Amino acid sequence: MRTDDRLTDYIVEQVVRLVKTPSLAGHTDKAISYVEEELSRAGVKHRRTGRGALLATLDGRAPSDGERRAQPGPHRALTAHVDTLGAMVKEPGKDGSLLFTPVGGYALATVEGEYVTVETGAGKLFRGTILLDEPSAHVSKKVTEAKREFENMRIRLDAEVRNEKDLAKLGVAVGDYVHFDPRCEVTETGFIKTRHLDDKAGVACLLGALKALADSGLRPRLTTHFLFSTSEEVGFGASAGIPPEVGELVAVDMGTVGKGQESDEYSVCICAKDSTGPFDYALRRRLVKLCRSQKIPYRVDVYPFYGSDAAAAVRAGLDAVTGLFGPGINASHNLERTHRKALAATVRLVLAYVEPGGGKR
Ligand SMILES: [Zn+2]
Repeated sequence: MRTDDRLTDYIVEQVVRLVKTPSLAGHTDKAISYVEEELSRAGVKHRRTGRGALLATLDGRAPSDGERRAQPGPHRALTAHVDTLGAMVKEPGKDGSLLFTPVGGYALATVEGEYVTVETGAGKLFRGTILLDEPSAHVSKKVTEAKREFENMRIRLDAEVRNEKDLAKLGVAVGDYVHFDPRCEVTETGFIKTRHLDDKAGVACLLGALKALADSGLRPRLTTHFLFSTSEEVGFGASAGIPPEVGELVAVDMGTVGKGQESDEYSVCICAKDSTGPFDYALRRRLVKLCRSQKIPYRVDVYPFYGSDAAAAVRAGLDAVTGLFGPGINASHNLERTHRKALAATVRLVLAYVEPGGGKR
């Protein structure tokens, strides 16, 4: 099966398209529709779940002579989340600016100065900028001294608004979604730097794996489900939508690069333990073994402040073992960056994990 540069190019292309498709928790329809179209193009069957996530299923192949088994094993599932960080209008400011509340968890220092798009209930789009309430260095010392808190941060709307009434006239209101500019750039040196790599890089790797399987006509050893979840950043993620036959769930989500971390931007990072506890030991060792035998660059790491779709599923009562791996992401929940090598390693591990075979070769 092809796991060459062209597959990596496809994945990079998907990352770029996905990060430019806004999808905050509660408002992920555009990204899900995008994934839906991509799956249809590859001829992969899929359906929407009750919560608006997307579930694609590949039937497992019949056992060949070499791998006779009494009964088919339990199903497997892989999941990645399309939802990203952003904000919502909380309160119209008296001066026509907007106070906002976070969607997902992030430090204000990582979004100060960011250009945003405010989407009104009527679907009108306004540009704006996240700033301190007294942002001018020539007017106030606050810009160098103030601790950034949601109470003193504002969205400066690029419209002639001087007060709350002006905002109301434009139709800008409490509850409007605020999308951060992704600032996506693919460098000649192979880096992809953009917001929302968490977890659109994971989504793109799953799309890449599904395309490679579809193109090759090979099938996974066991029936394998691919769940594109929609509310991971707010804690629910894959808490629903995993079929009951699943005995093993792998979340494909970012590896945490930073001081004291093993993860890097050039490898697939396998998580041994995150904030919610250790992942299944046997599954983790199997993933490491696959990387070793197929010479996939990998790292095993512990993530200090981290939860995932896998934790959401377990908390919701999923009776299955879980694992987690994904591309190493530099400056997560900030101005994120990864390298195409990490995407290539991740899709190779996804494909190794599903054990493709049979079909036309
Ligand atoms: Zn994530």
